[in-house]
Amino acid sequence: MINKKRNFLKLSGLSFLSLVLLPYRLLYSATKKIINQNLTDEQKNIMFNEATERPYTSPLNYEKRNGFFHCANCEAKLFSSDAKFDSGTGWPSFRESLPGAFKTKIDYSFGMKRIEYHCANCGVHHGHVFADGLQKKRFCSNGLCLIFIPED
Ligand SMILES: [Zn+2]
Repeated sequence: MINKKRNFLKLSGLSFLSLVLLPYRLLYSATKKIINQNLTDEQKNIMFNEATERPYTSPLNYEKRNGFFHCANCEAKLFSSDAKFDSGTGWPSFRESLPGAFKTKIDYSFGMKRIEYHCANCGVHHGHVFADGLQKKRFCSNGLCLIFIPED
């Protein structure tokens, strides 16, 4: 009998929490929309579920031409090639983004406190930004979220 009561409390506690969180979840997902209908399942998993691509898999790691990196979902301009550097992490890395390109939130997943950044225009996840030093930032980007357009 006592066990049953405990289980009931656990269940009602859980459903109460999900009821409270539901509007926020809806709000959050409403800010992200699929604009590019040709996104692959892997791209969608990163952009909408905040998954991470395997390191050293993005051809953009080796991209050295001048140009701009755009959002693979909405094509907003996000990074200049001037800000790109080889971080040795296996993900395309940038010192800074173009002004206003991203919004951030604190991400507590995997027991770490990290700063997640997402496209300010369409809301999809792009990566995490780290502080490498006092003034130095490192935008650790999923290459699958980016399209590179070289300058002519
Ligand atoms: Zn976007």
